[in-house]
Amino acid sequence: MKLLKSVPLHVKILIALVLGAIWGSVFSVQSDVFIANYENNSNQSESIIADWDKIEIQNSDVSYSRSEANKFFNYVGKNKPINVVIYQQNKAEILLTIESIKKKETFATYLRPIGTLFIKLLSFLAIPLVIASLIVGAASLDNIKKLGRIGGRTFLFYLATTTIAIGIGLSLANLIAPGKQIPDSIKSEMLSSADNNIDADISSKMEIDLLEFVVDIVPKNPFKAMSSGNMLQIVFFSVMFGITLTFIEKEKSSVVISFFSGVSDTMIKMVDFIMYLAPYGVFALIAATIADFGYEIISTLVWYILTVILGLFLQNFLVYNSVVKLFGRISIKKFLSEIRNAQAIGFSTSSSAATLPVTFECVEKMGVPKQVSGFVLPLGATINMDGTALYQGVATVFIAQIYGMDLGLTEQLTVVLTAVLASIGTAPVPGVGIIMLVMILQSVNIPPEGIALIMGVDRLLDMMRTITNVSGDAAVAVAIDGIESKGKQALI
Ligand code: ASP
Repeated sequence: MKLLKSVPLHVKILIALVLGAIWGSVFSVQSDVFIANYENNSNQSESIIADWDKIEIQNSDVSYSRSEANKFFNYVGKNKPINVVIYQQNKAEILLTIESIKKKETFATYLRPIGTLFIKLLSFLAIPLVIASLIVGAASLDNIKKLGRIGGRTFLFYLATTTIAIGIGLSLANLIAPGKQIPDSIKSEMLSSADNNIDADISSKMEIDLLEFVVDIVPKNPFKAMSSGNMLQIVFFSVMFGITLTFIEKEKSSVVISFFSGVSDTMIKMVDFIMYLAPYGVFALIAATIADFGYEIISTLVWYILTVILGLFLQNFLVYNSVVKLFGRISIKKFLSEIRNAQAIGFSTSSSAATLPVTFECVEKMGVPKQVSGFVLPLGATINMDGTALYQGVATVFIAQIYGMDLGLTEQLTVVLTAVLASIGTAPVPGVGIIMLVMILQSVNIPPEGIALIMGVDRLLDMMRTITNVSGDAAVAVAIDGIESKGKQALI
């Protein structure tokens, strides 16, 4: 027990990650065994479909073999109730009207509620923390000039790192050409099933309307923005609130500032408590995710996955390390050792918003004052998604390659522009990056159904890109702090 207490938290989280992955692989979900809820003589019954060779969708020419079980599962998810004919070896065909379908739970997926609980605990902190720290941050920058300077620099850094990220993504995707590594026969099979797997609402037109986007940043009702978790609107309101505080009588503003400062400290303290649960939460999240993962698809998409991972690694290794080295006050070693907890939580929750409280803690340990982190980090969690932008760059080129399209320079520049905008508009929660990808694909006339080609591995890449998203925010916070403190020294 004493030994366990002396193990540092980040080591415990790392061990939990590894053990969770092992547990999830041992108790993995069988992708070809289903529990179906079906209608039988107008009564509802439930039974396990385990022994089957082929399932045919009645009155259509669509059928699935056992190796295509995941595709069948997705199909039923979107088209229920559905009449199917089940073929079993040497047995009579069975006709069922399936109402709903689920996979069989295992010892790994049973743990999912623990993981969900952990994500919820972190997420409920995020919004009060963003509001309180932004208000205190903006108010304590005591004059509008300083706020403008820090705000401007932060924005420029975020813009630059995101543009570089897309650049890396596009360059690698052109160089490695992951879509061209796939044999033509598999390509055509992928394309024919892409149409079946697409959500109807995703295939509808999504367009970027810049004006509407800007107008939308201003909330009509800040409380509604808070309750619906609209981060951009929350950021706008809190910064305005913080700035305006500096314009009223000191006697009154100091009470409000110390109130929000207390709220912010309480939230950070709560993170400390919740982090005691991190190893259990991480274990459960990873175990359930790994158990549920369809490994079959990895082999076809291996080049694509590797290209994204290589890009994310380069973004962390080259870009963030350089940002810290050139502008920060701390060593790269210190940055890397302090950011580990945020990276592990980002990886297991796939959410920059849920990770934000932990990122705050890590950046505080790097010596960045709250005045800076309180402003830079919430803004970053909202508008800075380098990992997502990089992934979108690779995904766009990959999908184009599968469709046999070649993207010229103008089209690739359009991708850069749309991905920067998409990154600002991407909500910091799991799986949004792939939805925003639809917009990018449409901007260069690639069929948006193409996202079905990569959906199967999206969760894995979401986990990876979230690591980069949170590391990018932290690196910029370190840089802004470095620049600010150098400015102070110069004044002295
Ligand atoms: N999960 C990512 C994040 O929260 C967003 C995304 O790419 O889907 O940072």
